[in-house]
Amino acid sequence: MAALNLTPNGDWSSPPSMPGSALIFLGTGCSSAVPNARCLIQPSDPPCSVCSQALSIPPDQNPNYRCNTSLLIDYCQSDGNTHSYVLIDVGKTFREQVLRWFSLYKVPRVDSIILTHEHADAVLGLDDIRAIQPHSPTNDIDPTPIYLTEFAMKRAGVLTIEISLCAGPRTSLKIFKALWISTQEEFLLDIWPFSSALKICCPLAGSYLLFIAEKFPYLVQKKLKEGQEVRRVAQLDWRIIEGNCEKSFVASGLQFVPLPVMHGEDYICLGFLFGQKSRVAYISDVSRFIASTEYVISKDGAGQLDLLILDTLYKKGSHNVHFCLPQTLEALKRICPKRALLIGMTHEFDHHKDNDFLAEWSRREGIQVQLAHDGLRIPMEL
Ligand SMILES: [Zn+2]
Ligand SMILES: [Zn+2]
Repeated sequence: MAALNLTPNGDWSSPPSMPGSALIFLGTGCSSAVPNARCLIQPSDPPCSVCSQALSIPPDQNPNYRCNTSLLIDYCQSDGNTHSYVLIDVGKTFREQVLRWFSLYKVPRVDSIILTHEHADAVLGLDDIRAIQPHSPTNDIDPTPIYLTEFAMKRAGVLTIEISLCAGPRTSLKIFKALWISTQEEFLLDIWPFSSALKICCPLAGSYLLFIAEKFPYLVQKKLKEGQEVRRVAQLDWRIIEGNCEKSFVASGLQFVPLPVMHGEDYICLGFLFGQKSRVAYISDVSRFIASTEYVISKDGAGQLDLLILDTLYKKGSHNVHFCLPQTLEALKRICPKRALLIGMTHEFDHHKDNDFLAEWSRREGIQVQLAHDGLRIPMEL
């Protein structure tokens, strides 16, 4: 079908030509994505107007069709010709995002990956990275650098747990498939095949009978074990960064400043500040700003942002691990960027309707704010 793009002010346009740097919004939705499957298989009366659009409007023409939050930075190096592609987050819907937007914008590869955190909607597409890497049956390719904090690395490595229980003098049960839910201090295990949850205090370095394998052991493993067959998997070069505004790093020639923010009071997620010619901050998962982070991106602090890309989950009220629109708009008034685009929306948001409301708010407050949408491409000097 015709390649169309909806700009934030609602105009349809052909994909732009590709000179210069640009930001491509690969996904602008919440973890469960939009349409919400429940709205289609158990429709309410009347049906959810946002989700039911997905049955009649093709995704490419439906700004309310939202995959997991993810941003692709098309960075045009100073020679004006060489493009590097930096991908922020690789969520559950990554494959669909590649099929739709990499082909439309002729993105041939990803040169670096940056992870904000290790939740499913930020990392569960990592397996599909192999699809955008050169093909080698023996995995003999240059690995793609992937930047993440040590905490995310450890946590990304934890999903399958093997636990041995001594049930009697001669019986040792080895139980696999434990579902791991944890805070830093303890594991709450819902252990198959038992239905009741078993709570075990166990620091990561504790001495309990827990052997922590890894969510993606085959993506982290450097060498094959003896007798292990070669299987083609994504080749990644894991690089640890610090979640500290003072500790910037460079990915594919572009400097990034980590922006630690609270994503629930028990969890720190990273946003990122980048760009020399334009200052852009990307913050996809936030429930509260840490003062030092807010300073770095505020007009009254280290300087006004040209663009702030910011989380907003629901239209009303508040949520324990994300900003909703009232907190997002309050934060925008404090931070005062020149322009803001909102991401992470649920099906509560109706793109055109809510952008009309935001246009009115923008006129009143003097900060240009709109909802982003999947496939939005913003040319941006970086
Ligand atoms: Zn819905
Ligand atoms: Zn998250």
